[in-house]
Amino acid sequence: MSYDSENIFAKILRGEIPCNKVYEDEHALAFHDIAPQAPVHVLVIPKGPYVSHDDFSEKASEAEIAGFTRAVGHVARELGLSAPGYRLIANHGNDGGQEVPHYHVHICGGGRLGRMLAPRD
Ligand code: 5GP
Repeated sequence: MSYDSENIFAKILRGEIPCNKVYEDEHALAFHDIAPQAPVHVLVIPKGPYVSHDDFSEKASEAEIAGFTRAVGHVARELGLSAPGYRLIANHGNDGGQEVPHYHVHICGGGRLGRMLAPRD
């Protein structure tokens, strides 16, 4: 799947659509999910044009991967989630239920999250 530069997160990165920003650095942008599924639900996206974890893990530079990974950890700590705990989710493709084709990691926390996966439908 090639990268679609008109996807919603690309527009957020370009500042064409607003977001509730939590953190930004050279490699990553973090913002609150518009439809939170947990008391705390933040998305972290890399600044480069990667469709998903599959694409990012294959094509991103070492600096991008290190920077993005550190940003995810930093954001979780800044949100106060290290001690109580949190869950990271990265959906890829159809079976993964990915809706937005720009790589993103969901940071979910703020309370007990329950089962890791919902029953299959
Ligand atoms: P996916 O299913 O692709 O892993 O997750 C996409 C996430 O993006 C969903 O949780 C959805 O609520 C969120 N989302 C979709 N559009 C927007 C938007 O315009 N702004 C923000 N902040 N989140 C969005």
